[in-house]
Amino acid sequence: NGLKVVVVGGGFGGATAAKYVRMWSDYGIEVTLVEPNANFISCPISNLVLGGTKTMADITTPYDGLVKNHGVKLVHDTVSVIDADKRIVKLASGGALPYDRLILSPGIDFMWDTLPGMASAGAKDKVLHAWKAGAQTVALRKQLLDMPDGGVFALTIPLAPYRCPPGPYERACQVAHYLTQTKPRSKVLILDANDDVTSKGPLFKKAWAERYKGMVEYRSKHALADVDAASNTLKFEFQDDLKANVLNVLPPMRAGAIAVQTGLATANQRWCEVDFLTFESKAVKNIHVLGDSIQVAPAMPKSGHMANQHGKTCAAAVIALLTGQTPNPSPIYNNTCYSFVSAEDAVHVASVHTYDPVHQTMIAVAGSGGVSKAANELEGRFALSWAQGIWADTLM
Ligand code: FAD
Repeated sequence: NGLKVVVVGGGFGGATAAKYVRMWSDYGIEVTLVEPNANFISCPISNLVLGGTKTMADITTPYDGLVKNHGVKLVHDTVSVIDADKRIVKLASGGALPYDRLILSPGIDFMWDTLPGMASAGAKDKVLHAWKAGAQTVALRKQLLDMPDGGVFALTIPLAPYRCPPGPYERACQVAHYLTQTKPRSKVLILDANDDVTSKGPLFKKAWAERYKGMVEYRSKHALADVDAASNTLKFEFQDDLKANVLNVLPPMRAGAIAVQTGLATANQRWCEVDFLTFESKAVKNIHVLGDSIQVAPAMPKSGHMANQHGKTCAAAVIALLTGQTPNPSPIYNNTCYSFVSAEDAVHVASVHTYDPVHQTMIAVAGSGGVSKAANELEGRFALSWAQGIWADTLM
């Protein structure tokens, strides 16, 4: 039929959409996926790499499943410009790809302008986020290995919304797990801009109190104002400066740069508003935005599981729109986020979301989902199976 879909970003949202547009169109629609990274490296489970119980190989999956099993055309490149009028994307290395529908899942980028000190030479190599799994995960692990016993690891969390609400608290547990084994006099300080732990709060607090016995200290309402990388100092809006051996700074986040630059981030210049039936941008026709980049409905987290659900809903809608059918008027998405509180024990939070035609948004289904009562090893096994399952569903 000659129809062309271009997908930008081979993360949880984009890779899922690419695969399902191919499968559900009976391989009738040409799909080109543009992604600069050689392999998919998963943020889920990456905190366990920091904790030392998993390796980078454990969280890495090649892209060739999409190519061999589903005939997705893979282009290792970066989209530098989207020309929505001509319906083409331009590639950083030169060349252009035409599309009938464009699916954009570029993840997040950091609002570095909110932390002016991070612009100084070498600051970004020294003060890491490790909030995109890859080289920074390895580098932060090295900083932990090099930290002296009795040292302080300080983790700052921006105001919500940000990628993966429970992720920072899981990270604190994994760092504490490693330090407990190797450098028991050390401290993990969590400096959270929010009023309280934003996800699974009682479960994390119990783990910090009972498993890590004073090693983890949680401080709320600590809005980061700047970072002095040279002296390893955090500067806050209201509290005193704080020095630590390792700084792990999660800056405020917004939609991936290509989405912002294309004028799609209509909500506060940060997030992309979409029609939840199709994920089509409310700002620009024929462009669909998925995953962490979107302005979510209430109670919808920015998670890989959610991005995978967006990918499927969007794939079905794009096929419908390209072939003269009506997209499903009542999509349902679900979400499960597991967090490891130790090497083996995990907790989860789950929810189901349905379309509300009156308010044209997604709402949590009453009585659906729930939160673990307590961390345990069975949930840890479920969490690892969840990861294997979603990597396979997204990439194979
Ligand atoms: P991504 O997966 O980040 O994919 C974006 C892709 O777009 C990238 O591969 C990037 O290279 C590419 N890209 C960007 N710009 C361009 C461009 N211009 N041209 C071409 N390609 C481009 N979620 C869960 O569900 N469960 C968990 O347990 C969990 N744990 C997490 C733990 C940590 C430490 C972190 C940081 C996150 C965790 N998440 C978890 C969240 C999850 O990783 C994200 O929500 C998910 O990756 C979002 O998918 P996405 O498609 O929006 O973005």
